[in-house]
Amino acid sequence: MAGDANDPKLRSWVEVASDSHFPIQNLPFGVGCPKAGGELRVCSAIGDFVLDLAVLDEADAFDETAVAGTEVFHEPTLNAFMALGHEAWSATRQALSRLLRDDCGELRDDTELRERALLPADAVELQLPVDVGDYTDFYSSREHATNVGTMFRGAENALMPNWLHLPVGYHGRSSSIIVSGAPVRRPQGQTRPDDAQPPVFGASRMVDFELEMGFFIGPGNASGDAVPVGEAESHIFGMVLVNDWSARDIQKWEYQPLGPFLAKNFATTISPWVVTLDALEPFRCAGPPQEPAPLENLRGGGDGAFNIALEVWLAPDGGDATRLCQSNCRYLYWSMAQQLAHHASGGCNLRTGDLLASGTISGPTDDSRGSMLELAWRGEQPLTLDSGEQRGSIQDGDIVTLTGWCQGDGFRVGFGECSGKLLPAH
Ligand code: MN
Repeated sequence: MAGDANDPKLRSWVEVASDSHFPIQNLPFGVGCPKAGGELRVCSAIGDFVLDLAVLDEADAFDETAVAGTEVFHEPTLNAFMALGHEAWSATRQALSRLLRDDCGELRDDTELRERALLPADAVELQLPVDVGDYTDFYSSREHATNVGTMFRGAENALMPNWLHLPVGYHGRSSSIIVSGAPVRRPQGQTRPDDAQPPVFGASRMVDFELEMGFFIGPGNASGDAVPVGEAESHIFGMVLVNDWSARDIQKWEYQPLGPFLAKNFATTISPWVVTLDALEPFRCAGPPQEPAPLENLRGGGDGAFNIALEVWLAPDGGDATRLCQSNCRYLYWSMAQQLAHHASGGCNLRTGDLLASGTISGPTDDSRGSMLELAWRGEQPLTLDSGEQRGSIQDGDIVTLTGWCQGDGFRVGFGECSGKLLPAH
């Protein structure tokens, strides 16, 4: 379906470094605004440049596609484009691929159009790409669930009885979803640091990151209609990196019996570029074996994993970054198709722009744990940064950066960065 836009031999007339996340094989979608002034536009990325799709649309670049005449690229969010469905997304990506490949002079040789459409990335302010209606966070990494369960209930009871039968999740908060680069304020909240004393209110002392990925719903489903697992991916527009910032001390006190609440809803950071499933298709792989076999309505999602290398870096205020974690999206036990099918199975209508996130993605090794809670094992084994400083949780001024990419032959299909600085509490 992605046509030859995924050909690994393709090269663009735009220079792209081999470690860039945005070669011609990617062509993600986002929303940006020229820093010099102007309106928000739908954009794509190639190398160190941003491509203004509204300008290209005005030049009739998409006349052969379903977006022609829709004005969806003049919108300040991707929602209208996402609602059009896979055929429109795929045709747009193929049209961009053709314009950018090294044997096509249409845009390259049209100096006036090229200078308006192709802007240096540092001249564009990227925005939150989607108006997110609802946000759901799953708990789909077996290693993460096992680590956290071991810490709080012991190794014998690490996984709850339901965990291997359904993708556990909770409804999050969409109002505090922010784009990479926006700072995060250390939350205030109620905690009970001493079980023999009453609870107290004040700044959280255990702010953490969670290494996650999320996907956006394109066309939704009608209320009451389930989505078969085999059709679930047709509802997925694309993926982003997600940092589900968490306050562990607030979480520990508040979470029973209804789950996460204020510990999670103060901020969730996403990366600005949405990478389509078309671009990720060459990196599809089998997920972990599922034993026991899921019930019929969740069966058949086994080839729905993607080989996406993931890293987390932490830079203390004014200092150099240290890599804390190397994980991979393929470790997720429950696939996106299974998460989506389960979500809709009771009749819940998913809507264009909804964000469904994976939960913390931890792997089998100590250095693939996707949260500070696990890496420092509840603070009992603090991490040592390259600067010599120690961390059991995130400190004021720390910048946490998630990154991720698929490694091709001589190129990377990547997500850029998902980054945020922790500011002191008010
Ligand atoms: Mn989470």
